[in-house]
Amino acid sequence: QAKAAGRNTLCFFDPRMQAAVSARMSLEADLRQGLRERQFLLHYQPQVDKAGRITGVEALIRWQHPKRGMVSPLEFIQLAEETGLILPLGEWVLETACRQLASWAAVPKLADLEIAVNVSARQFHYHGFVEQVLGALAITGAIPQRLKLELTESMLFENLEGTISKMNVLKARGISFALDDFGTGYSSLAYLKRLPLDMLKIDRSFVRDLLTNANDAVIARTIIALGCNLGLKVIAEGVETEDQRDFLFQHGCDAYQGYLCTKPLPAHDVAAIIATRSGTMPNGNQTS
Ligand code: C2E
Ligand code: MG
Ligand code: MG
Ligand code: MG
Repeated sequence: QAKAAGRNTLCFFDPRMQAAVSARMSLEADLRQGLRERQFLLHYQPQVDKAGRITGVEALIRWQHPKRGMVSPLEFIQLAEETGLILPLGEWVLETACRQLASWAAVPKLADLEIAVNVSARQFHYHGFVEQVLGALAITGAIPQRLKLELTESMLFENLEGTISKMNVLKARGISFALDDFGTGYSSLAYLKRLPLDMLKIDRSFVRDLLTNANDAVIARTIIALGCNLGLKVIAEGVETEDQRDFLFQHGCDAYQGYLCTKPLPAHDVAAIIATRSGTMPNGNQTS
């Protein structure tokens, strides 16, 4: 009896596990406090088309913690998912992105910009998600046609019928959808055909070695052909070099995102970049 209890409680006193548990608890407490104290902000990364025009931006969350410094979303989105904090956090992201859309709508050069917002699985499957999105549009006055939601493969197949109908409700209001990190999940092509998507995003892992790894080149070209045949736009993420960009455009990719243009930046810095581009030069060259 005592021995069994000892065995069951052993892991609780494993110092490594104990450290992981308390690190997690303190991160969770910090997340709650961060939400209350408005420590989050959005950066925006431009999406560039074949003509070199910036047609949209992806909103990426940043956490400016008073002691931890800038914390990467890779370090807290999963915990936010597990704890349910993704619901208030995701709502804040949607509202902030929509507020940005509404303020850009008044600026001629920025009025047509689209903002893509990342949505996590738990947030999407939350029963109030549609209301969350429509609410963010309503209170900010943003145009739904300028809002794109980025979903990931794994979250779509949990409840395919429910997913499709949720997407259709939002699509009927003018909102569009991109499938993020495409190629890294377990998409069945039969499902892909049924989802009311507008865009595929080629994952950065296929773009990185595009010019040196023949398999990655074939995968990228196959995703482009697939998107094209399904009537979807295709955008590549993580484009860092002109050679990568040129390869992708030569093979029919519609747009790219990546450090080649710029890292994600605060909204006013993105606006400044757009203000200095005429956007009419091919190959993404700047004209001024
Ligand atoms: P993602 O949606 O696939 O976003 C692309 C990530 O690649 C971003 O990392 C971006 O900064 C980075 N990136 C862009 N261009 C380049 C490049 O040329 N080279 C390299 N090496 N990296 C590049 P970030 O901002 O750290 O975000 C990581 C992930 O966190 C995102 O991946 C997304 O899944 C998640 N995330 C970010 N913001 C949100 C959010 O508001 N809500 C949710 N649910 N998830 C978010
Ligand atoms: Mg994304
Ligand atoms: Mg992505
Ligand atoms: Mg990615």
